[in-house]
Amino acid sequence: MSVLDDNITKLDGYLDRFRNGGIKNRIAGQDCAGSAGVFQTLSPVDKSVICDVAEGSAEDIDCAAKAAADAFPAWRDLPAPERKRILIRVAEGIEARAEEIALCECWDTGQAFKFMSKAALRGAENFRYFADQVVQARDGQLLQSPTLMNVTTRKPIGPVGVITPWNTPFMLSTWKIAPALAAGCTVVHKPAEASPLTARLLVEIAEEAGLPPGVLNTVNGFGETAGKTLCEHPDIKAIAFVGESRTGSMIIKQGADTLKRNHLELGGKNPVIVFEDADLDRALDAVIFMIYSINGERCTSSSRLLIQQSIRADFEAKLVERVNNIKVGHPLDPTTEIGPLISREHFDKVTSYFDIAAQDGATTAAGGAAIGDEGYFVKPTLFTNARNDMRIAQEEIFGPVLTSIPFETEAEALALANDTAYGLTGYLWTNDLTRALRFTEALEAGMIWVNSENVRHLPTPFGGVKASGIGRDGGDWSFDFYMEQKHIGFATGAHKITRLGAL
Ligand code: NAD
Repeated sequence: MSVLDDNITKLDGYLDRFRNGGIKNRIAGQDCAGSAGVFQTLSPVDKSVICDVAEGSAEDIDCAAKAAADAFPAWRDLPAPERKRILIRVAEGIEARAEEIALCECWDTGQAFKFMSKAALRGAENFRYFADQVVQARDGQLLQSPTLMNVTTRKPIGPVGVITPWNTPFMLSTWKIAPALAAGCTVVHKPAEASPLTARLLVEIAEEAGLPPGVLNTVNGFGETAGKTLCEHPDIKAIAFVGESRTGSMIIKQGADTLKRNHLELGGKNPVIVFEDADLDRALDAVIFMIYSINGERCTSSSRLLIQQSIRADFEAKLVERVNNIKVGHPLDPTTEIGPLISREHFDKVTSYFDIAAQDGATTAAGGAAIGDEGYFVKPTLFTNARNDMRIAQEEIFGPVLTSIPFETEAEALALANDTAYGLTGYLWTNDLTRALRFTEALEAGMIWVNSENVRHLPTPFGGVKASGIGRDGGDWSFDFYMEQKHIGFATGAHKITRLGAL
Protein backbone atom coordinates (compact mmCIF):
# COMPACT_ATOMS: atom_id res chain seq x y z
CA MET A 1 0.00 0.00 0.00
CA SER A 2 1.38 3.45 -0.89
CA VAL A 3 1.76 6.11 1.83
CA LEU A 4 -1.05 8.04 0.12
CA ASP A 5 -3.41 5.04 0.30
CA ASP A 6 -2.39 4.44 3.88
CA ASN A 7 -3.07 8.09 4.78
CA ILE A 8 -6.46 7.96 3.04
CA THR A 9 -7.42 4.84 5.02
CA LYS A 10 -6.33 6.42 8.29
CA LEU A 11 -8.18 9.64 7.47
CA ASP A 12 -11.31 7.66 6.74
CA GLY A 13 -11.15 6.23 10.25
CA TYR A 14 -10.65 9.66 11.80
CA LEU A 15 -13.53 11.19 9.81
CA ASP A 16 -16.11 8.55 10.76
CA ARG A 17 -17.10 10.30 13.98
CA PHE A 18 -17.53 13.63 12.14
CA ARG A 19 -19.63 11.99 9.41
CA ASN A 20 -21.84 10.33 12.01
CA GLY A 21 -22.24 13.08 14.57
CA GLY A 22 -21.18 16.27 12.76
CA ILE A 23 -19.32 18.98 14.65
CA LYS A 24 -21.13 20.48 17.64
CA ASN A 25 -20.28 23.67 19.43
CA ARG A 26 -18.56 23.12 22.76
CA ILE A 27 -19.76 25.38 25.55
CA ALA A 28 -19.03 24.90 29.27
CA GLY A 29 -17.74 21.40 28.58
CA GLN A 30 -20.94 20.35 26.80
CA ASP A 31 -21.74 19.59 23.16
CA CYS A 32 -24.37 22.04 21.94
CA ALA A 33 -26.31 22.22 18.68
CA GLY A 34 -26.12 25.53 16.83
CA SER A 35 -29.21 27.66 17.32
CA ALA A 36 -28.96 28.75 13.65
CA GLY A 37 -28.99 25.11 12.45
CA VAL A 38 -26.08 23.54 10.58
CA PHE A 39 -23.81 24.30 7.65
CA GLN A 40 -21.58 21.91 5.75
CA THR A 41 -17.83 21.83 5.46
CA LEU A 42 -16.43 20.55 2.15
CA SER A 43 -13.07 19.16 1.19
CA PRO A 44 -11.29 21.23 -1.48
CA VAL A 45 -9.64 18.03 -2.73
CA ASP A 46 -12.81 16.70 -4.40
CA LYS A 47 -15.55 19.14 -3.27
CA SER A 48 -17.21 16.37 -1.21
CA VAL A 49 -19.14 17.12 1.97
CA ILE A 50 -17.10 16.22 5.05
CA CYS A 51 -19.80 16.76 7.67
CA ASP A 52 -22.44 19.04 9.16
CA VAL A 53 -21.25 21.77 11.49
CA ALA A 54 -23.33 23.48 14.19
CA GLU A 55 -24.02 27.04 13.09
CA GLY A 56 -23.70 29.38 16.04
CA SER A 57 -25.72 32.57 16.33
CA ALA A 58 -25.83 35.47 18.80
CA GLU A 59 -27.57 33.18 21.28
CA ASP A 60 -24.76 30.59 21.25
CA ILE A 61 -22.08 33.28 21.52
CA ASP A 62 -23.93 34.69 24.52
CA CYS A 63 -23.98 31.24 26.21
CA ALA A 64 -20.29 30.73 25.46
CA ALA A 65 -19.33 34.22 26.71
CA LYS A 66 -21.28 33.60 29.94
CA ALA A 67 -19.58 30.20 30.34
CA ALA A 68 -16.18 31.87 29.86
CA ALA A 69 -17.12 34.60 32.38
CA ASP A 70 -18.27 32.00 34.95
CA ALA A 71 -15.10 29.94 34.52
CA PHE A 72 -12.80 32.97 34.69
CA PRO A 73 -12.34 33.55 38.49
CA ALA A 74 -11.35 29.95 39.23
CA TRP A 75 -8.99 29.73 36.22
CA ARG A 76 -7.44 33.10 37.05
CA ASP A 77 -6.87 32.05 40.66
CA LEU A 78 -5.56 28.55 39.94
CA PRO A 79 -1.98 28.37 41.25
CA ALA A 80 0.43 28.92 38.35
CA PRO A 81 2.19 25.52 38.64
CA GLU A 82 -1.17 23.75 38.29
CA ARG A 83 -2.11 25.84 35.23
CA LYS A 84 1.31 25.07 33.78
CA ARG A 85 0.80 21.32 34.33
CA ILE A 86 -2.53 21.41 32.45
CA LEU A 87 -1.03 23.31 29.51
CA ILE A 88 1.84 20.84 29.25
CA ARG A 89 -0.69 18.01 29.23
CA VAL A 90 -2.46 19.82 26.34
CA ALA A 91 0.85 19.86 24.45
CA GLU A 92 1.29 16.14 25.11
CA GLY A 93 -2.29 15.48 23.94
CA ILE A 94 -1.59 17.35 20.69
CA GLU A 95 1.60 15.35 20.14
CA ALA A 96 -0.26 12.10 20.78
CA ARG A 97 -2.88 13.02 18.16
CA ALA A 98 -0.57 14.87 15.73
CA GLU A 99 -1.26 12.49 12.87
CA GLU A 100 -5.04 12.78 13.26
CA ILE A 101 -4.79 16.57 13.44
CA ALA A 102 -2.54 16.73 10.37
CA LEU A 103 -4.66 14.41 8.22
CA CYS A 104 -7.93 16.15 9.15
CA GLU A 105 -6.35 19.57 8.54
CA CYS A 106 -5.11 18.52 5.07
CA TRP A 107 -8.52 17.18 4.07
CA ASP A 108 -10.38 20.22 5.43
CA THR A 109 -8.01 22.90 4.04
CA GLY A 110 -6.19 21.32 1.09
CA GLN A 111 -2.81 21.99 2.70
CA ALA A 112 -0.10 19.44 1.90
CA PHE A 113 0.75 16.82 4.55
CA LYS A 114 4.42 17.67 4.00
CA PHE A 115 3.82 20.97 5.84
CA MET A 116 0.81 20.18 8.03
CA SER A 117 2.48 17.30 9.86
CA LYS A 118 4.84 19.92 11.28
CA ALA A 119 2.03 22.45 11.90
CA ALA A 120 0.37 20.11 14.42
CA LEU A 121 3.65 19.79 16.31
CA ARG A 122 4.15 23.56 16.15
CA GLY A 123 0.80 23.79 17.94
CA ALA A 124 2.15 21.60 20.75
CA GLU A 125 5.28 23.76 20.87
CA ASN A 126 3.12 26.86 21.33
CA PHE A 127 1.47 25.27 24.37
CA ARG A 128 4.81 24.16 25.85
CA TYR A 129 6.42 27.53 25.29
CA PHE A 130 3.66 29.52 27.00
CA ALA A 131 3.25 26.86 29.75
CA ASP A 132 6.89 27.50 30.64
CA GLN A 133 6.13 31.18 31.17
CA VAL A 134 3.06 30.78 33.37
CA VAL A 135 4.92 31.02 36.65
CA GLN A 136 6.45 34.45 35.82
CA ALA A 137 3.50 35.80 33.82
CA ARG A 138 2.20 38.05 36.59
CA ASP A 139 5.59 39.34 37.71
CA GLY A 140 5.96 43.09 37.70
CA GLN A 141 8.57 45.75 38.33
CA LEU A 142 9.72 47.79 41.27
CA LEU A 143 10.04 51.47 40.31
CA GLN A 144 11.29 53.33 43.36
CA SER A 145 10.63 57.09 43.56
CA PRO A 146 11.72 59.54 46.31
CA THR A 147 8.50 59.18 48.32
CA LEU A 148 6.96 55.97 47.06
CA MET A 149 7.74 52.37 46.45
CA ASN A 150 5.95 51.79 43.12
CA VAL A 151 5.21 48.24 42.12
CA THR A 152 3.56 46.89 39.03
CA THR A 153 1.77 43.62 38.59
CA ARG A 154 -0.17 41.99 35.76
CA LYS A 155 -3.67 40.54 35.93
CA PRO A 156 -5.43 38.51 33.22
CA ILE A 157 -7.82 40.80 31.37
CA GLY A 158 -10.81 38.41 31.59
CA PRO A 159 -12.69 36.27 29.06
CA VAL A 160 -11.36 36.89 25.53
CA GLY A 161 -12.56 36.10 22.00
CA VAL A 162 -10.24 34.40 19.51
CA ILE A 163 -11.22 34.57 15.82
CA THR A 164 -9.06 32.57 13.40
CA PRO A 165 -8.73 32.10 9.61
CA TRP A 166 -8.62 28.94 7.50
CA ASN A 167 -5.07 28.84 6.14
CA THR A 168 -3.31 26.89 8.92
CA PRO A 169 -6.17 26.81 11.38
CA PHE A 170 -4.80 24.46 14.05
CA MET A 171 -1.41 26.10 14.44
CA LEU A 172 -2.87 29.62 14.38
CA SER A 173 -5.53 28.76 16.96
CA THR A 174 -2.91 27.45 19.38
CA TRP A 175 -0.78 30.52 18.74
CA LYS A 176 -3.59 32.67 20.17
CA ILE A 177 -5.26 30.32 22.66
CA ALA A 178 -2.09 29.01 24.41
CA PRO A 179 -0.90 32.44 25.65
CA ALA A 180 -4.46 33.49 26.57
CA LEU A 181 -4.86 30.41 28.78
CA ALA A 182 -1.34 30.79 30.17
CA ALA A 183 -2.13 34.37 31.14
CA GLY A 184 -5.18 33.16 33.10
CA CYS A 185 -7.86 34.26 30.60
CA THR A 186 -10.77 32.13 29.52
CA VAL A 187 -11.58 31.90 25.80
CA VAL A 188 -14.43 31.81 23.29
CA HIS A 189 -12.99 30.58 20.00
CA LYS A 190 -14.73 31.24 16.67
CA PRO A 191 -12.84 29.19 14.08
CA ALA A 192 -13.06 29.89 10.34
CA GLU A 193 -16.23 28.44 8.82
CA ALA A 194 -14.20 26.92 5.95
CA SER A 195 -12.02 24.70 8.21
CA PRO A 196 -13.75 23.75 11.48
CA LEU A 197 -12.40 20.20 12.03
CA THR A 198 -9.24 20.73 14.02
CA ALA A 199 -10.69 23.41 16.33
CA ARG A 200 -12.99 20.65 17.56
CA LEU A 201 -9.99 18.37 18.15
CA LEU A 202 -8.21 21.13 20.08
CA VAL A 203 -11.03 21.74 22.57
CA GLU A 204 -11.39 17.98 23.07
CA ILE A 205 -7.68 17.52 23.72
CA ALA A 206 -7.67 20.49 26.10
CA GLU A 207 -10.57 19.14 28.16
CA GLU A 208 -9.04 15.65 28.25
CA ALA A 209 -5.86 17.28 29.54
CA GLY A 210 -7.81 18.66 32.50
CA LEU A 211 -8.81 22.12 31.30
CA PRO A 212 -11.91 22.91 33.39
CA PRO A 213 -15.24 23.24 31.53
CA GLY A 214 -15.90 26.76 30.22
CA VAL A 215 -12.22 27.78 30.12
CA LEU A 216 -12.11 27.12 26.36
CA ASN A 217 -15.39 27.27 24.42
CA THR A 218 -15.73 26.75 20.67
CA VAL A 219 -18.58 28.27 18.68
CA ASN A 220 -18.65 27.60 14.93
CA GLY A 221 -20.40 29.85 12.49
CA PHE A 222 -19.99 32.77 10.15
CA GLY A 223 -18.09 35.98 10.65
CA GLU A 224 -20.96 38.36 10.01
CA THR A 225 -23.12 36.65 12.67
CA ALA A 226 -21.22 34.63 15.30
CA GLY A 227 -17.95 36.56 14.84
CA LYS A 228 -19.66 39.95 14.97
CA THR A 229 -21.59 39.13 18.15
CA LEU A 230 -18.41 37.92 19.81
CA CYS A 231 -16.78 41.30 19.13
CA GLU A 232 -19.84 43.11 20.51
CA HIS A 233 -20.31 41.02 23.65
CA PRO A 234 -19.84 43.01 26.88
CA ASP A 235 -18.40 40.04 28.83
CA ILE A 236 -15.59 39.62 26.29
CA LYS A 237 -12.74 41.96 27.19
CA ALA A 238 -10.48 41.56 24.16
CA ILE A 239 -10.46 40.09 20.67
CA ALA A 240 -7.42 38.32 19.24
CA PHE A 241 -8.03 38.24 15.50
CA VAL A 242 -6.16 36.75 12.56
CA GLY A 243 -7.57 37.36 9.10
CA GLU A 244 -7.94 39.86 6.30
CA SER A 245 -7.21 43.55 6.73
CA ARG A 246 -10.72 44.66 5.80
CA THR A 247 -12.18 42.24 8.39
CA GLY A 248 -9.74 43.74 10.89
CA SER A 249 -11.36 47.17 10.45
CA MET A 250 -14.76 45.60 11.07
CA ILE A 251 -13.46 43.98 14.25
CA ILE A 252 -12.48 47.43 15.55
CA LYS A 253 -15.84 48.98 14.62
CA GLN A 254 -17.83 46.13 16.11
CA GLY A 255 -15.93 46.33 19.39
CA ALA A 256 -16.13 50.11 19.72
CA ASP A 257 -19.25 50.29 21.89
CA THR A 258 -17.78 47.89 24.44
CA LEU A 259 -14.30 49.49 24.22
CA LYS A 260 -12.74 46.21 23.19
CA ARG A 261 -8.99 45.72 23.21
CA ASN A 262 -8.03 44.29 19.81
CA HIS A 263 -4.99 42.48 18.54
CA LEU A 264 -5.06 42.23 14.76
CA GLU A 265 -2.82 40.00 12.62
CA LEU A 266 -3.79 40.85 9.05
CA GLY A 267 -2.75 40.48 5.43
CA GLY A 268 0.54 41.05 3.64
CA LYS A 269 2.12 41.69 0.25
CA ASN A 270 5.61 40.99 1.43
CA PRO A 271 8.71 41.79 -0.62
CA VAL A 272 11.74 39.57 -1.02
CA ILE A 273 14.58 41.74 -2.30
CA VAL A 274 17.47 39.99 -4.04
CA PHE A 275 20.66 41.97 -4.75
CA GLU A 276 23.32 40.85 -7.22
CA ASP A 277 25.85 40.31 -4.40
CA ALA A 278 23.69 37.72 -2.60
CA ASP A 279 24.20 33.98 -2.36
CA LEU A 280 21.86 33.43 -5.30
CA ASP A 281 21.42 29.67 -4.89
CA ARG A 282 20.19 30.06 -1.32
CA ALA A 283 18.10 33.10 -2.32
CA LEU A 284 16.42 31.04 -5.04
CA ASP A 285 15.52 28.26 -2.59
CA ALA A 286 14.12 30.75 -0.09
CA VAL A 287 12.15 32.75 -2.69
CA ILE A 288 10.48 29.54 -3.89
CA PHE A 289 9.83 28.20 -0.40
CA MET A 290 8.30 31.43 0.92
CA ILE A 291 5.63 31.72 -1.79
CA TYR A 292 4.89 28.16 -2.92
CA SER A 293 4.86 26.33 0.44
CA ILE A 294 1.53 26.16 2.33
CA ASN A 295 -0.22 26.71 -1.03
CA GLY A 296 0.91 30.35 -0.88
CA GLU A 297 -1.95 30.76 1.60
CA ARG A 298 0.36 32.30 4.11
CA CYS A 299 0.30 35.83 5.54
CA THR A 300 4.10 35.98 5.64
CA SER A 301 4.58 34.73 2.07
CA SER A 302 7.02 36.67 -0.07
CA SER A 303 4.58 37.34 -2.89
CA ARG A 304 6.62 40.18 -4.47
CA LEU A 305 10.10 39.39 -5.77
CA LEU A 306 12.20 42.54 -6.25
CA ILE A 307 15.15 41.41 -8.34
CA GLN A 308 18.19 43.45 -9.37
CA GLN A 309 18.20 43.98 -13.13
CA SER A 310 21.78 42.68 -13.58
CA ILE A 311 20.81 39.16 -12.39
CA ARG A 312 17.18 39.17 -13.38
CA ALA A 313 17.20 37.09 -16.58
CA ASP A 314 19.26 34.28 -15.08
CA PHE A 315 17.38 34.24 -11.76
CA GLU A 316 13.96 34.24 -13.43
CA ALA A 317 14.99 31.46 -15.83
CA LYS A 318 16.01 29.27 -12.87
CA LEU A 319 12.78 30.21 -11.11
CA VAL A 320 10.65 29.15 -14.08
CA GLU A 321 12.38 25.79 -14.23
CA ARG A 322 11.88 25.11 -10.52
CA VAL A 323 8.29 26.43 -10.39
CA ASN A 324 7.29 24.17 -13.28
CA ASN A 325 8.73 21.23 -11.30
CA ILE A 326 6.74 21.85 -8.12
CA LYS A 327 4.53 18.87 -7.45
CA VAL A 328 0.83 19.71 -7.25
CA GLY A 329 -1.33 16.84 -6.06
CA HIS A 330 -3.32 15.08 -3.40
CA PRO A 331 -2.50 16.75 -0.08
CA LEU A 332 -2.19 13.40 1.72
CA ASP A 333 0.58 12.25 -0.63
CA PRO A 334 3.73 13.06 1.37
CA THR A 335 5.57 14.08 -1.81
CA THR A 336 2.94 16.70 -2.74
CA GLU A 337 4.21 20.26 -2.44
CA ILE A 338 1.00 22.14 -3.33
CA GLY A 339 -2.56 20.97 -2.65
CA PRO A 340 -5.87 22.53 -3.70
CA LEU A 341 -6.98 26.00 -2.61
CA ILE A 342 -9.41 26.14 0.29
CA SER A 343 -12.74 26.87 -1.45
CA ARG A 344 -14.57 27.76 -4.65
CA GLU A 345 -14.67 31.41 -3.57
CA HIS A 346 -10.91 31.52 -2.98
CA PHE A 347 -10.16 29.55 -6.15
CA ASP A 348 -12.21 32.11 -8.13
CA LYS A 349 -10.30 34.94 -6.48
CA VAL A 350 -6.84 33.47 -7.14
CA THR A 351 -7.60 32.46 -10.75
CA SER A 352 -9.09 35.91 -11.48
CA TYR A 353 -5.55 37.29 -11.16
CA PHE A 354 -4.45 35.18 -14.15
CA ASP A 355 -6.60 37.46 -16.36
CA ILE A 356 -5.81 40.61 -14.40
CA ALA A 357 -2.07 40.03 -14.93
CA ALA A 358 -2.54 39.67 -18.67
CA GLN A 359 -4.79 42.75 -18.88
CA ASP A 360 -2.19 44.79 -16.97
CA GLY A 361 0.54 43.69 -19.39
CA ALA A 362 2.57 41.31 -17.21
CA THR A 363 4.00 38.05 -18.60
CA THR A 364 2.83 34.71 -17.26
CA ALA A 365 6.19 32.95 -17.14
CA ALA A 366 4.89 29.83 -15.37
CA GLY A 367 1.48 28.42 -14.46
CA GLY A 368 -1.46 30.78 -14.81
CA ALA A 369 -4.09 28.04 -15.09
CA ALA A 370 -6.30 25.75 -13.03
CA ILE A 371 -5.71 21.97 -13.02
CA GLY A 372 -8.79 19.84 -13.78
CA ASP A 373 -12.10 20.48 -12.08
CA GLU A 374 -12.27 17.73 -9.50
CA GLY A 375 -10.90 20.01 -6.78
CA TYR A 376 -9.60 23.57 -6.44
CA PHE A 377 -6.12 22.94 -7.87
CA VAL A 378 -4.07 25.64 -9.60
CA LYS A 379 -0.63 25.60 -11.15
CA PRO A 380 2.10 27.44 -9.25
CA THR A 381 2.34 30.72 -11.08
CA LEU A 382 5.04 33.27 -11.80
CA PHE A 383 4.39 36.70 -13.30
CA THR A 384 7.34 38.59 -14.76
CA ASN A 385 7.71 41.97 -16.50
CA ALA A 386 5.50 43.39 -13.78
CA ARG A 387 5.39 46.88 -12.31
CA ASN A 388 4.75 47.63 -8.68
CA ASP A 389 1.61 49.62 -9.49
CA MET A 390 -0.10 46.59 -11.06
CA ARG A 391 -2.85 44.87 -9.08
CA ILE A 392 -0.78 41.65 -8.99
CA ALA A 393 1.88 43.63 -7.10
CA GLN A 394 -0.45 45.52 -4.76
CA GLU A 395 -3.23 43.08 -3.79
CA GLU A 396 -2.90 40.06 -1.53
CA ILE A 397 -3.65 37.09 -3.84
CA PHE A 398 -3.05 34.51 -1.06
CA GLY A 399 -2.21 31.65 -3.43
CA PRO A 400 0.89 30.11 -5.05
CA VAL A 401 1.45 33.17 -7.20
CA LEU A 402 4.67 35.21 -7.35
CA THR A 403 5.07 38.61 -9.02
CA SER A 404 8.61 39.50 -10.11
CA ILE A 405 9.57 43.18 -10.44
CA PRO A 406 13.01 44.43 -11.52
CA PHE A 407 15.02 47.24 -9.90
CA GLU A 408 18.34 48.94 -10.68
CA THR A 409 19.50 50.63 -7.49
CA GLU A 410 19.20 50.17 -3.74
CA ALA A 411 17.13 53.35 -3.44
CA GLU A 412 14.72 52.08 -6.08
CA ALA A 413 14.43 48.69 -4.34
CA LEU A 414 13.59 50.36 -1.04
CA ALA A 415 10.97 52.63 -2.62
CA LEU A 416 9.32 49.65 -4.34
CA ALA A 417 9.44 47.52 -1.20
CA ASN A 418 7.70 50.21 0.85
CA ASP A 419 5.19 51.15 -1.86
CA THR A 420 2.40 48.95 -0.51
CA ALA A 421 -0.47 49.29 1.92
CA TYR A 422 0.88 46.33 3.91
CA GLY A 423 3.88 45.89 6.20
CA LEU A 424 4.03 42.39 7.65
CA THR A 425 7.37 40.87 6.63
CA GLY A 426 10.34 41.61 4.39
CA TYR A 427 13.15 39.32 3.23
CA LEU A 428 16.48 40.75 2.17
CA TRP A 429 19.24 38.92 0.27
CA THR A 430 22.61 40.67 0.17
CA ASN A 431 26.15 40.00 1.37
CA ASP A 432 26.81 43.71 1.93
CA LEU A 433 26.51 44.18 5.69
CA THR A 434 26.17 47.94 5.72
CA ARG A 435 23.53 47.78 3.01
CA ALA A 436 21.63 45.25 5.13
CA LEU A 437 21.79 47.58 8.14
CA ARG A 438 20.64 50.60 6.09
CA PHE A 439 17.92 48.70 4.28
CA THR A 440 16.36 46.93 7.27
CA GLU A 441 16.30 50.23 9.16
CA ALA A 442 14.21 51.85 6.41
CA LEU A 443 12.05 48.89 5.36
CA GLU A 444 8.46 49.27 6.59
CA ALA A 445 7.69 45.84 8.03
CA GLY A 446 7.04 44.32 11.43
CA MET A 447 9.42 41.39 10.79
CA ILE A 448 12.46 41.18 8.54
CA TRP A 449 14.78 38.29 7.76
CA VAL A 450 18.21 38.85 6.17
CA ASN A 451 19.63 35.99 4.08
CA SER A 452 16.96 33.70 5.48
CA GLU A 453 13.46 32.51 4.89
CA ASN A 454 10.92 33.02 7.70
CA VAL A 455 12.26 31.07 10.66
CA ARG A 456 10.00 31.60 13.63
CA HIS A 457 11.51 31.92 17.12
CA LEU A 458 8.72 32.05 19.70
CA PRO A 459 10.29 34.63 22.06
CA THR A 460 10.48 37.25 19.26
CA PRO A 461 7.65 39.69 18.45
CA PHE A 462 5.32 38.63 15.63
CA GLY A 463 3.10 41.20 13.93
CA GLY A 464 2.81 43.80 11.22
CA VAL A 465 2.74 47.54 10.57
CA LYS A 466 0.47 49.58 8.26
CA ALA A 467 -2.51 47.49 7.01
CA SER A 468 -0.86 44.29 8.27
CA GLY A 469 -1.94 44.66 11.84
CA ILE A 470 -1.91 46.16 15.28
CA GLY A 471 -0.08 44.54 18.19
CA ARG A 472 2.48 41.81 18.66
CA ASP A 473 2.46 38.19 19.73
CA GLY A 474 5.35 36.09 20.95
CA GLY A 475 7.32 36.05 24.18
CA ASP A 476 6.14 38.52 26.76
CA TRP A 477 4.32 40.58 24.08
CA SER A 478 1.50 38.02 24.16
CA PHE A 479 1.04 38.54 27.91
CA ASP A 480 0.97 42.31 27.42
CA PHE A 481 -2.13 41.77 25.30
CA TYR A 482 -3.94 39.22 27.47
CA MET A 483 -3.16 40.99 30.76
CA GLU A 484 -3.77 44.34 32.42
CA GLN A 485 -0.87 46.23 33.94
CA LYS A 486 -1.59 47.42 37.46
CA HIS A 487 0.43 50.02 39.33
CA ILE A 488 0.40 50.33 43.15
CA GLY A 489 2.30 53.08 44.97
CA PHE A 490 3.21 52.60 48.67
CA ALA A 491 4.28 55.71 50.61
CA THR A 492 7.69 55.07 52.16
CA GLY A 493 7.32 57.92 54.70
CA ALA A 494 5.25 60.97 55.52
CA HIS A 495 5.78 62.99 52.34
CA LYS A 496 4.09 66.38 52.10
CA ILE A 497 0.47 66.15 50.91
CA THR A 498 -0.84 69.45 49.53
CA ARG A 499 -3.58 70.57 51.91
CA LEU A 500 -6.71 72.12 50.39
CA GLY A 501 -9.39 73.79 52.50
CA ALA A 502 -7.11 73.87 55.51
CA LEU A 503 -6.21 77.44 56.38
P1 NAD B 1 -11.21 36.52 6.98
O1 NAD B 1 -10.90 37.88 7.50
O2 NAD B 1 -12.19 36.39 5.89
O3 NAD B 1 -11.75 35.58 8.15
C1 NAD B 1 -11.02 35.36 9.34
C2 NAD B 1 -11.99 35.04 10.45
O4 NAD B 1 -12.78 36.20 10.72
C3 NAD B 1 -12.97 33.90 10.13
O5 NAD B 1 -13.17 33.13 11.29
C4 NAD B 1 -14.25 34.67 9.78
O6 NAD B 1 -15.44 33.93 10.01
C5 NAD B 1 -14.16 35.84 10.74
N1 NAD B 1 -14.93 37.03 10.34
C6 NAD B 1 -15.27 37.45 9.10
N2 NAD B 1 -16.01 38.58 9.19
C7 NAD B 1 -16.12 38.89 10.50
C8 NAD B 1 -16.74 39.94 11.23
N3 NAD B 1 -17.42 40.91 10.63
N4 NAD B 1 -16.64 39.93 12.57
C9 NAD B 1 -15.96 38.97 13.22
N5 NAD B 1 -15.36 37.94 12.59
C10 NAD B 1 -15.42 37.91 11.24
O7 NAD B 1 -9.81 35.87 6.60
P2 NAD B 1 -9.56 34.46 5.90
O8 NAD B 1 -9.92 34.60 4.46
O9 NAD B 1 -10.18 33.39 6.74
O10 NAD B 1 -7.97 34.31 6.06
C11 NAD B 1 -7.04 34.81 5.16
C12 NAD B 1 -6.47 36.13 5.65
O11 NAD B 1 -5.85 35.97 6.92
C13 NAD B 1 -5.39 36.67 4.73
O12 NAD B 1 -5.57 38.05 4.53
C14 NAD B 1 -4.10 36.44 5.54
O13 NAD B 1 -3.04 37.29 5.23
C15 NAD B 1 -4.59 36.63 6.93
N6 NAD B 1 -3.67 36.01 7.88
C16 NAD B 1 -2.86 36.82 8.64
C17 NAD B 1 -1.93 36.25 9.51
C18 NAD B 1 -1.01 37.13 10.32
O14 NAD B 1 -0.43 36.62 11.27
N7 NAD B 1 -0.83 38.39 10.00
C19 NAD B 1 -1.85 34.87 9.63
C20 NAD B 1 -2.69 34.07 8.84
C21 NAD B 1 -3.60 34.66 7.98
